[in-house]
Amino acid sequence: MNTERFKENRIYDPKDIDDISYVKRLMEYESLIPGFSKEFSADPQGVLKKIGIPLTPRDVAFDPHTVENGNVIMNPKYPDTPAAKYARFMNSKFAHRDEIKKYCTPVNPAMKKWRERQICRCAIQLGAKFQSLIHAPFAIELSDGCSVGCPFCGLAAERLKSVFFHTPENAELFKGVINAAREIIGDAVSEGTLYFGTEPLDNPDYELFMKDFTDIFGNIPQITTARSTMYIERLRPLLAEINRTQKNVYRFSILSEKMAGEIFEAFTPQELILTELLPQYEEAPSCALVNSGKNGKDDDYGDTISCITGFVVNMARKDIKLATPVWASKEHPTGELILERAKFTDPEDFKEKILGMISRHMSNLIAPDDRIRLEDGISLELLEDKVVINTDRYVSVNLEAKGDLSIFKKIFDALGKGYRYKRDIVSELCVLGDGKIIPPEIVYYVINKWWGMGLIKTESGKV
Ligand code: SF4
Repeated sequence: MNTERFKENRIYDPKDIDDISYVKRLMEYESLIPGFSKEFSADPQGVLKKIGIPLTPRDVAFDPHTVENGNVIMNPKYPDTPAAKYARFMNSKFAHRDEIKKYCTPVNPAMKKWRERQICRCAIQLGAKFQSLIHAPFAIELSDGCSVGCPFCGLAAERLKSVFFHTPENAELFKGVINAAREIIGDAVSEGTLYFGTEPLDNPDYELFMKDFTDIFGNIPQITTARSTMYIERLRPLLAEINRTQKNVYRFSILSEKMAGEIFEAFTPQELILTELLPQYEEAPSCALVNSGKNGKDDDYGDTISCITGFVVNMARKDIKLATPVWASKEHPTGELILERAKFTDPEDFKEKILGMISRHMSNLIAPDDRIRLEDGISLELLEDKVVINTDRYVSVNLEAKGDLSIFKKIFDALGKGYRYKRDIVSELCVLGDGKIIPPEIVYYVINKWWGMGLIKTESGKV
């Protein structure tokens, strides 16, 4: 069991469940129901009564939202109100997400360093979006394709072709695969999900696999489902368990206003305290569809919902892909940079395949025959006592630097001249026109350090 994780604090105090969940339900009406905000502003008390929320307008009053580092900051208007408890609950959920990101660290040294580099690269390339990606090192899909067929699917899932049932052999293979992954990656595997480009509840045996997973790790895997209204009774015990343990947050994709109404009808606010309702239809006031996968059109790409920096295993097809998030584009339509795919037959073979991918793709040195240049959209600023990298996505990185800071500017400029071999950049910086040289070991050191910080691109596409 991942015991460290289970020592963590809870997301909310159970005695506050009513106050928090009622405010949460009000927020959901605001984000899902067109015209609701206007109606609420006109008659707050009447509307609260109409939707069954036993609170007063003062209880639910917030100052206008502000955004900091990609997070919406909710400032309650009055202290000690349900709104104040809700704001603390939201902060606690963000902190919980950041904790999970920390537990996603693999124990394999090459993979650990590679993941750190991808996190830095994503901070530079993805801007505010970066905050929401946990870079889980592992996920398992329990079916081939997805039955829902959302027209906006950010991962462009294909139609459902088959399901991996919990037969004795399949259960054995499933446990063999997660144990093999755990041997290499460590307890970080426990932060993975049992879905990725699939709908978890498409598999009628999802709960049995979930139990196997929980027996091994002590952790309940996270669920995002678009089938909440189809499986209300199936979901009820899952929600009760997640609320009791408070070790994860579920998500329902809400595909229409009608579906939102059915969910409000079927589940009490308290049942959904740890379930986020994601507005996934155009008319929703907070519609959050991303321009990726099926929703990315021609030149209108540019987002990602991929949160895996590691292996996605499909048990129905018996295949593995190694991927990491990138901004969706024609070249990477699903917002994933897929580095390799492979088939596997059994846990031993699975282990060999993922070790092979680690050795081929997670070498943390730039090879002598790889040409490099600076990442796109970054600039360097020399301040009196530090070097700052600014990106065109509003992210700034402070570089550790001492001594003559102009050296960093020279290395930065040399890397900005297009793809070149590391040795050519070193030679250039050893013969500066002003008669000064930068010692080669310093140039190599800085290049390697910046590569680890995601500031450098390779021509071969290695990340
Ligand atoms: S968004 Fe999720 S539920 Fe919808 S098609 Fe894609 S994988 Fe399936």
